[in-house]
Amino acid sequence: MSSPTQKKQEKREDDIFLDSKLRPSKWAEYIGQKQIKDNLHILLEAARGRNQPPEHILFYGPPGLGKTTLAHLIAHETGRQMKVTSGPAIEKVGDLASILTNLSPGDILFIDEIHRLNKMVEEILYPAMESGSLDIIIGKGPSARTIQLDLPPFTLVAATTRIALLSSPLRSRFSGGVFRLEFYTDEEIKEIARRSLSILGTEHTLEDDALEEIARRSRFTPRTANYLIKRVRDFAQVHKKSLSKKTVHEALSLLGIDELGLSSSDRKVLETIIDKFDGGPVGLKTIAAATAEEEATIEEVTEPYLIQLGLLERTAKGRVATQKAYDHLGFDYPENKDSNEC
Ligand code: ADP
Repeated sequence: MSSPTQKKQEKREDDIFLDSKLRPSKWAEYIGQKQIKDNLHILLEAARGRNQPPEHILFYGPPGLGKTTLAHLIAHETGRQMKVTSGPAIEKVGDLASILTNLSPGDILFIDEIHRLNKMVEEILYPAMESGSLDIIIGKGPSARTIQLDLPPFTLVAATTRIALLSSPLRSRFSGGVFRLEFYTDEEIKEIARRSLSILGTEHTLEDDALEEIARRSRFTPRTANYLIKRVRDFAQVHKKSLSKKTVHEALSLLGIDELGLSSSDRKVLETIIDKFDGGPVGLKTIAAATAEEEATIEEVTEPYLIQLGLLERTAKGRVATQKAYDHLGFDYPENKDSNEC
């Protein structure tokens, strides 16, 4: 049996494979996020007019909403080379120095999970972003001295799921803009799912109400839609079924995904708050301990979706399950609950 860490790793590899296969390579294929796209077009066009690399850009929002894809599209649109790394991969100041000094003029550097950069590394990044220089300290103690290296002009595109963890000096250096990705509408998800199915290939066409069913359970998130499309296609193939609403229903029930798109871990979080903590308020740490889920996963993946659906509220005192959550999970909502909380 796989350990939880192995399971996470396997899922990740599956995600990586699907992401790269289905990632849009043209703006026209990138559905939704209209405001961000409009702003980026202006930014990129203006930089092109000045014959300079675009300014540094930060994208934030829950996983799977298209941040990495935007970075790829920017590189593609500007015809520039992109180097990809991530916050946890840059452990030491020397790692970042080596990445920066190996950039070619005009390169795009994409740093995913930038909130996980350590403070010392972050401080090297400030002058690099601001004035294109690298400050290196040589030696130790009183004889230590700083030398400054000029870096080739570059654009940093960064992504984070946890904007609140970014220091304000770092945030303020994204002079090109800080953009929040929004959840997608059902119509947008349907368009994405349709395209994905045509790339993944199947002998059957997806019936319209089946597509709707997938969209409804996709957490308003393209990566989830792609994952579900793949699972449904596999299920239909193995059981020799058409891609109907009924097949979608059966395939997703087998995965433990309910009609609101909640996974078993989403339901466990809600059930724990309702059952063990009288619906809340209860702190994140306590929920994590009681459900044996990681705090970061609850905060980055579970909560944004539950909040978006109106099943959970985040208050100053902690997380609270709403009446809609009680109804969805089949618990009786205590009549005196609202008055108790006043
Ligand atoms: P993030 O970096 O926010 O976690 P990604 O950019 O890796 O998300 O997106 C995951 C996958 O979802 C992509 O490979 C792509 O197939 C799909 N995707 C994301 N955003 C869009 C979009 N706007 N239009 C079409 N497909 C998208």
